[in-house]
Amino acid sequence: MPNYKVKLKCHREIADGTMAFHFEKPAGFTYKAGQFAGWSLINPAETDTEGNKRAFSFASAPYEDDLMLATRMRDTAFKRVLKTMEPGTEVTLNAPHGSFTLHNNASVTAVFLTGGIGITPVRSIVLQAIHDKVSHRILAFYSNRKPEDAAFLDDLMGSHAANPNYTFVGTMTQMEKSSREWHGETGVISKATLLKFIDDLTLPIYYIDGPPTMVNSMRQILSEAGVDDDNIRTEEFSGY
Ligand SMILES: Cc1cc2nc3c(=O)[nH]c(=O)nc-3n(C[C@H](O)[C@H](O)[C@H](O)COP(=O)(O)OP(=O)(O)OC[C@H]3O[C@@H](n4cnc5c(N)ncnc54)[C@H](O)[C@@H]3O)c2cc1C
Repeated sequence: MPNYKVKLKCHREIADGTMAFHFEKPAGFTYKAGQFAGWSLINPAETDTEGNKRAFSFASAPYEDDLMLATRMRDTAFKRVLKTMEPGTEVTLNAPHGSFTLHNNASVTAVFLTGGIGITPVRSIVLQAIHDKVSHRILAFYSNRKPEDAAFLDDLMGSHAANPNYTFVGTMTQMEKSSREWHGETGVISKATLLKFIDDLTLPIYYIDGPPTMVNSMRQILSEAGVDDDNIRTEEFSGY
């Protein structure tokens, strides 16, 4: 894959401990919603044994002007440098990679199962699908401890109105620790949660992504519900 130099435009906090970084999109660069890139720091002020490169999904949708990544701001050299980067600083982008992208057959429902920072490619796919007015039925299940932790909640909930085929199901597992109102689901995503919204669990194509523990537990629920492995697509955020 080709390398591009991309300039940071701005960064912002999008949830507790989570930041989004916007970069200029290089002329001629294209990617599909759901794909990811290798992002490398150029001559960073510090480094550690994990090195200067990380994989991040595009949280931006291809129709949007900027390239955006979003990440949990853990205390690692890479993320300390990223957090303090001045607008105009360049990083190297190696992209696009991956096939975690929406299937073509619009008669088959797409179900996204994710939690925490796993929302990044889902935001990209859902916003692009709504922009393109695709006719797939799309359901996005998104689990967090509390609304304060949930990145892109407004984007994902607000997109409801723009597409009647799209259903967003947010769920919170620790509302007792939240100071916000929440009128959605509570508790972890389970077979019972899915059955509230999907009549026959064996029919959709499922997309699971995020930290490996999340991917494994969702895959197990689907397997126990009789979903064929061929209908389960996964993207593991190794490193969490
Ligand atoms: C295809 C793909 C897409 C991805 N997309 C995204 C994305 O959109 N957003 C995103 O945030 N990440 C994404 N990741 C994960 C990302 O590449 C990093 O691995 C992740 O952000 C961790 O980076 P780090 O600098 O915090 O930790 P690293 O320095 O890479 O450390 C990795 C190791 O140290 C441990 N570690 C480091 N710090 C801590 C800590 N504070 N507490 C506990 N353990 C720690 C980790 O468990 C891990 O074993 C993706 C990964 C892949 C493969």
